[in-house]
Amino acid sequence: MPGTATAPSLSPMPEDWQRALAVVAHPDDLEYGAAAAVAEWTAAGREVTYVLVTRGEAGIDGLGPQECAAIREAEQRASAAVVGVRTVEFLDEHQDGVIEAGLPLRRDLSAAVRRHRPELLITLNHHDTWGGVAWNTPDHRVVGRAALDAAGDAGNRWIFPELIAEQGLDPWDGVRWVAVAGSPYPTHAKEVGPGIERAVASLAEHRAYITGLEGAGQDPEAYARGFLEPMLRSAGEQYRGAPATLFQLYPR
Ligand SMILES: [Zn+2]
Repeated sequence: MPGTATAPSLSPMPEDWQRALAVVAHPDDLEYGAAAAVAEWTAAGREVTYVLVTRGEAGIDGLGPQECAAIREAEQRASAAVVGVRTVEFLDEHQDGVIEAGLPLRRDLSAAVRRHRPELLITLNHHDTWGGVAWNTPDHRVVGRAALDAAGDAGNRWIFPELIAEQGLDPWDGVRWVAVAGSPYPTHAKEVGPGIERAVASLAEHRAYITGLEGAGQDPEAYARGFLEPMLRSAGEQYRGAPATLFQLYPR
């Protein structure tokens, strides 16, 4: 119950930063909540970049991976543009559904951190569940954990020294926080006002994915609104009452 002594106390997300990098496994991972906060931040003049580990090519049952990858990449780029994200990168070495934990992934994410030099790193829930008994997917667990690791790896010149030698990527030890969206253990919140409308439009850009999931008769915008509005409102009730996106924040 909000307002009781036992309610979890959430802190405001840090705002004293200029560059954020969001690293997730699939197109749409950021659009189920985090993009509302991204919209607020870009509107305030901050720079947010997206790095996608895959193109979500295993995401639509009736569509082969190659065709699916092209559609979902385009949907993700459109979706990012709606919330003011201009740079969207896709890694090429990892496959949707079977992303492997290990050094190649850590190296790729460290390279991304070094390229973009963020102060805030954003990723998606790396825990086993979404809270309760809803089991998380292996890709999210693996990528979330690798992103948390990469925040440290990126700052050490002796970890992945080939990134300096081969790509000229000097260490970046400037990540001050890693914010995990969709965590069952939120610690921080970002209030979202006009960001809600942009978040709805951003999720609705995943048209092929949404109609693949919900059926051809589904209106993507109605689906996006029906999912996001109640979610952001109920998250806000755990904070100050106004709609909000919640994050679990790991300071460094
Ligand atoms: Zn996903």
